[in-house]
Amino acid sequence: MSDQHRHDPDQSYNENDAHDHGNGGGAHHPDAPSEIEARTLALESLLIEKRILTSEDVDRVVSAYEHDIGPMIGAHLVARAWLDPGYRRRLLKDAPAAVRELGYEYHADTRLVVIPNQPGIHNMVVCTLCSCYPWMVLGLPPTWYKSAPYRSRAVSEPRAVLAELGLQLPDEVAINVWDSSAELRYMVLPERPAGTEGWTEEELAKIVTRDCMIGVARPQLPALVGTR
Ligand code: FE
Repeated sequence: MSDQHRHDPDQSYNENDAHDHGNGGGAHHPDAPSEIEARTLALESLLIEKRILTSEDVDRVVSAYEHDIGPMIGAHLVARAWLDPGYRRRLLKDAPAAVRELGYEYHADTRLVVIPNQPGIHNMVVCTLCSCYPWMVLGLPPTWYKSAPYRSRAVSEPRAVLAELGLQLPDEVAINVWDSSAELRYMVLPERPAGTEGWTEEELAKIVTRDCMIGVARPQLPALVGTR
């Protein structure tokens, strides 16, 4: 089976790709700032000086990413979808509405599409252009997600990239690679593993890692890990 590189034909890349990076970090760092931290601090100072934002705004965003926004949101969505077929349908049809249904915020400026893994079809997410990521449900992206090798090789040789990240897929499993953009972000809905029958939503959410929702891992049962 051939691996496919999916891209929504309606979405064109934007030169001014409005990114979710750049808000975080640096402001309270005890060491001398790196070049990128110094640039961030300079930008922050300028925005505060021009009264475009306040330092409280910055602190609020940093705190949100440290405490409130992260892969636990995505894991909650996945666990609910595994338990509730009606919720799964709503999540796949209108992900932002399904996020809000569980009590989380979702700003309407970025589309979110959830792609379900199925028997014989595995999905993974990349941003080939830069680092667009479903941050409203997964928090900040891992460093490797933003790296040039992942961004190019996820498309040219996804099976090899997955194997290097520890996910060996049989040849008969097709891999779809979804290319994110500033306006359209993807999250993978992993398959519920066998052996989780009767588990609660909280128990299920614990095995849904960030990497499972990027599509570079599959949920693992802790008991199995322990017996190997
Ligand atoms: Fe990007």
